Amino acid sequence: MSILIKDITKAYGNQKALDNVSFSINKGELIGFLGPNGAGKSTMMKIITGYIRPNSGEVFINNELVKTENPSIRKNIGYLPEHNPLYTDLYIKEYLQFVAGLYQLKNKNKKVSDIIELTGLGDEQHKKIGALSKGYRQRVGLAQALIHDPSVLILDEPTTGLDPNQLEEIRNLIRTISKEKTVLLSSHIMQEVEAVCSRVLIINKGVLITDGPVEQIKKGNISQQQEITIEFDKEVKKESLQKVSGVHSVSLKNNRWIIESIDEADIRPNLFQFAVDNKLVILTLQQNQQSLEHVFHQLTK
Ligand code: ADP
Ligand code: MG
Repeated sequence: MSILIKDITKAYGNQKALDNVSFSINKGELIGFLGPNGAGKSTMMKIITGYIRPNSGEVFINNELVKTENPSIRKNIGYLPEHNPLYTDLYIKEYLQFVAGLYQLKNKNKKVSDIIELTGLGDEQHKKIGALSKGYRQRVGLAQALIHDPSVLILDEPTTGLDPNQLEEIRNLIRTISKEKTVLLSSHIMQEVEAVCSRVLIINKGVLITDGPVEQIKKGNISQQQEITIEFDKEVKKESLQKVSGVHSVSLKNNRWIIESIDEADIRPNLFQFAVDNKLVILTLQQNQQSLEHVFHQLTK
């Protein structure tokens, strides 16, 4: 077990930010930590990395208990905090050498040039951090998180605020890095987690509400209703569609009917029979997969 979280509770004053949260992450997994703003993601990450103390509960990284008084645990952890705080007046190399010094690394120059290469900072390496675009600053943030070659990486909203090109570049970089590390990546954006993670933990108001593979969570157990898109060659009365067996609701969108079933039963044969009975030709018939976004809204509303 790379990361083990046991019954973590954290309150700021009388406001509970985390309520008895437990989960574990195996070596080599890339896990999404998804939740709306204020859900408690950053708080959890600060506790995992030993920056703040929980009120109760324990965190183990590679079977070692995380304690704020014991910073040596941080040798095993790379942390990219939310908003990626950096010294904008330092040159990239200068900053990374400073970080390498904090970790008391040997062969500092080699480590810095290796990490510059890994994170694709080569062309910009002589610039001051303040002169970099947001995407490149994010690379510097990842470089500082990786320079000591930790086995566990904690990335707090690493792609927030990037433009689409930068986003794809940083996602690719995270995918590459994650091949050799255990990664926990937080986001409030479903697509983000869907794009890079295999498993997702969803947190809301400090409570962990689901944990499972992305595909499984999308398939549901949440709502058994199926959604079908169907298009006919001729106009159809809403009331008549509504009467088809198994249909719960019907709405029209761009000439296509969006039909929700009552339960998990497949209503496509019924719709097909409806078309035959009414001498209609089916132009489109498609079963819509629930997006993670839909699931997320259902779970957190
Ligand atoms: P997330 O990262 O999911 O957006 P946070 O962990 O930042 O959520 O915050 C969880 C809750 O705890 C929020 O309600 C937030 O306002 C509160 N909170 C976070 N940090 C502090 C703090 N230092 N002092 C008081 N309240 C805080
Ligand atoms: Mg946060």
